[in-house]
Amino acid sequence: MAKGLALFDSPSARDLEQELSRRFGFAGFRPGQREVIEAVLAGRDVLAVMPTGQGKSLCFQLPATLQPGLTLVVSPLIALMKDQVDGLRAKGIAAAAFHSGLSEPERDRVVQALKLGRLQLLYVAPERVQHEWFMRLLRSAWVSLFVVDEAHCISHWGHDFRPDYLRLGALRRELQSPPCLALTATATPKVQADIAEKLDLREPLRVVTGFRRPNLRFSVRPCGSHAEKLSTLEQALADVRDGSAIIYCATRKHVEEVAVALSRGCFSPRPSPLAARPSVGYYHAGLADDLRAKVHEQFLTGRIGVLVATNAFGMGIDKPDVRLVVHYDVPGSLEAYYQEAGRAGRDGRPASCVLLFHRPDVRTQEYFIKQSGNEQADALRRLLKHMVAYASGETCRQLAFLDYFGDIDERALGPCGQCDRCLDPPTTGATATDPEEHTAVQAVLHTVACLHGRFGATRIVEILHGSLSKQVTRLRLHTLAGFGQLRSWRRPAISRLVQRLIASGYLRVEGLEFPVLEITAKGASVLDGKEPR
Ligand code: ADP
Ligand code: ZN
Repeated sequence: MAKGLALFDSPSARDLEQELSRRFGFAGFRPGQREVIEAVLAGRDVLAVMPTGQGKSLCFQLPATLQPGLTLVVSPLIALMKDQVDGLRAKGIAAAAFHSGLSEPERDRVVQALKLGRLQLLYVAPERVQHEWFMRLLRSAWVSLFVVDEAHCISHWGHDFRPDYLRLGALRRELQSPPCLALTATATPKVQADIAEKLDLREPLRVVTGFRRPNLRFSVRPCGSHAEKLSTLEQALADVRDGSAIIYCATRKHVEEVAVALSRGCFSPRPSPLAARPSVGYYHAGLADDLRAKVHEQFLTGRIGVLVATNAFGMGIDKPDVRLVVHYDVPGSLEAYYQEAGRAGRDGRPASCVLLFHRPDVRTQEYFIKQSGNEQADALRRLLKHMVAYASGETCRQLAFLDYFGDIDERALGPCGQCDRCLDPPTTGATATDPEEHTAVQAVLHTVACLHGRFGATRIVEILHGSLSKQVTRLRLHTLAGFGQLRSWRRPAISRLVQRLIASGYLRVEGLEFPVLEITAKGASVLDGKEPR
């Protein structure tokens, strides 16, 4: 039996609303919050998966003010602890944070308050709980709720595994297993199961909610080259009438290149990260701290309208009027993608999320995985595969996310009606009624079949377009029947056709690092004339 339950009667629904408004000034609960809070107050273990910005913190902050004992919150985000603690103190709640960034006197004050049982809420960084003296201190406190924030970090299957988190199961046991609330914005059903197991959750209530973002219009734009990515990006930006835009790139190099390209004529050859005239700025971890802070501020105040950034730009961004988020390079996981794209449209007004999908970019992510060390490489590769599958997926983009995160309730409400797939369902390509297109489809399928999975999309497009590149002549590919068969087509158009044939299952891509194209059984049956036109 968890400690403390006998001392405490759960408040009625009306009391909860009153407390919510009295303590926090909110008029009502957001989806999922009440369910979680009621279960927590009843002493149940809870696993809650809610997207960023949905209001996860309230799920433990409100109980912390209503329950006796200490609510212990493990969180890796030291930068955000301070904001939360300040906010709570301003509301008269006894909260503190304990992490490596504290000065000695600050630390002493926290320890004193803890010893005297004066704290309602204590935030700790996961590495703190490794220290024996700190553990002794915690053991002597009465922890009535154990909260694990960013709980996906405990799982190898997640996208942000942190070894420090593995200690948390043991920590909970040492604290005599108080009720546990695990929170995360991104966990597939597999990661959820892993969290429950590693934290020893007892028949936890699972709340997965809020993943549908009805005001976001998702789309994926297949691109055959960097030049095409850039022009697609410029088109997307041209549609933004107000508010701001974030362009995510996978590397610092791309960030700077894209920033220069977007502000051509306004930047000197060595651009500054701060806004130049049409207010393009950039941000990555290579910039000095004070410069990063300045860029951040200029973005928040609107002086920078278009910010090009790596994923280092993320934590604590809560700008309501981001109208467009473009991913210039494919990210490493759907978790990362949904989180970053989800920074669009926080104000609830329409916003767009565009992924520019240039298949060779997948190699950049492969490279990152190699760098990450072996332990997690397989799991990361799997996440990347899901990401790539999303990019070439044929169904509603919003449904793809709801499926991935297991948000069953929202899934039941059906497709979004506004993503690229909903508005412009993929024609199969192979069954095209336009005779010119039909011939083109045959040419692509035939060429891919002849090459027996030895080449990727770029080379196939080159051959069909009749480009005499060094590689083509060296490998004598210009002697193929299909060489130059689509000479009258523009290369991006051929490239799009190839992508469509992949998306509709006539071709498939094999291998992540050196992806090659192969014909599928479905594709082969079109060549054999078995599939009706
Ligand atoms: P998360 O941790 O899920 O990313 P936060 O807990 O930081 O989200 O909450 C995001 C914002 O929503 C905060 O500004 C918070 O004050 C606000 N918020 C939370 N719950 C409610 C509510 N019931 N009504 C109105 N605003 C809320
Ligand atoms: Zn849709």
